[in-house]
Amino acid sequence: MLSQPAQAIVSFEQARHMVEQHAAQVAPGPAEAVDLLAAAGRVLAEEIRADRDLPPFPRATRDGFAVRSADVGGVPAELEVIGEIRAGASVADSALAIGPRQAVEIMTGAPVPAGADAVVMVEYTRRGGDSVEVQRSVTPGENVVPRGSESRANELLLPGGTHLTPAAIGLAASVGNATVSVYARPRVAILSTGDEVINVAASPEPNQIRNSNTYSLAAQVQSAGGIPLALPISPDRAEPLRELIEQGLQADLLLLTGGVSMGKYDLVEQVLTELNGEFFFTGAQIQPGKPIVFGRASASATEKATYFFGLPGNPVSTMVCFELFARPMIEALSGASPTPLRFLQARLKSEVKTKTGLTRFLPAQLSGEFGNVEVELVRWQGSGDMVSTARANCYLVIPPDREKIAAGEMLSVLPK
Ligand code: AMP
Ligand code: MG
Repeated sequence: MLSQPAQAIVSFEQARHMVEQHAAQVAPGPAEAVDLLAAAGRVLAEEIRADRDLPPFPRATRDGFAVRSADVGGVPAELEVIGEIRAGASVADSALAIGPRQAVEIMTGAPVPAGADAVVMVEYTRRGGDSVEVQRSVTPGENVVPRGSESRANELLLPGGTHLTPAAIGLAASVGNATVSVYARPRVAILSTGDEVINVAASPEPNQIRNSNTYSLAAQVQSAGGIPLALPISPDRAEPLRELIEQGLQADLLLLTGGVSMGKYDLVEQVLTELNGEFFFTGAQIQPGKPIVFGRASASATEKATYFFGLPGNPVSTMVCFELFARPMIEALSGASPTPLRFLQARLKSEVKTKTGLTRFLPAQLSGEFGNVEVELVRWQGSGDMVSTARANCYLVIPPDREKIAAGEMLSVLPK
């Protein structure tokens, strides 16, 4: 008699919610210092504050003439040019101050001199010797970013848990961080199962299937900020499967693929039950990916419990379930603040017919142009069809209560 966990099939929303709840409780690994150039995609383990006011001086945003706006209320206006300030000008040059009916020639990025409250663009001026004719008036503050208006010294710019996007990296650089403290990447074990599954380098017999899931998952783990650890393929036999699962539970997260359906040789849940695994759900009302399993288990009584996902073996199911459920857990283990699952909206290009009951995430193609994004399903042979899926650039989300969706409707799309 096989010991199986009690079946708990939940809706997509419930499943996602449960994962998010558990993800909110996990702790990231230790912090390490990395060169800022190598920090893209990592998660900040420290907070980054402004080391001085930003900008540090009132900054000209145009090439032209720094003026007192009151002097150019009526145009044309003739002003005396008392000097020039370029970006990087010496402190002495920058200390220039202008009086009534005076101007300073100024370049983009240079400090606006005392007394001036605006910059007239060079295009609206005519220079003549020591004077300039201003042909357009300016409002106070025009083409000047005041000192400290972006941030005050010591203001919090990036809290711990920030995912280091290119903009965050640029900001960290601008306030003087050549190295940053980031969380260790979580180690994510990947265990593909199946008697028919063989190594990619081996020559398959007609009845064998190459292990593609370990590869697609490793790529997804990497893109989510984790370090993939590929375990050997497990046959559909309890003893070797158990041994490999125990190995996998040493990592920060274990992803299994295959062996979670109702077949006679689907042993993953049985083995995890024998390891005193705790199951939060054993299926979700989604397609592809319905047999998805989420829980936690420890390799031995003395070790802490490790979260695991049992992903269905079909290659598309594996990938979709990773995006929907495993990614937020890896992000949390990386120390990142939680982010909601983000969908785009696109106009359906041609009618879709399905059955009700499941939330579907079907491989689709986004096209169209700015302001009119269109989406269309790719033709596929179901959740084993990697060929079509590799051509798709998104998943079209079909709510569980829809049977027929007319062309022209706006639908949610999950980018891939
Ligand atoms: P299972 O979930 O074990 O019933 O497997 C479902 C389908 O996915 C079967 O057609 C398997 O051959 C296929 N499959 C399982 N594991 C892999 C894998 N690692 N790589 C490619 N296909 C797989
Ligand atoms: Mg199998």
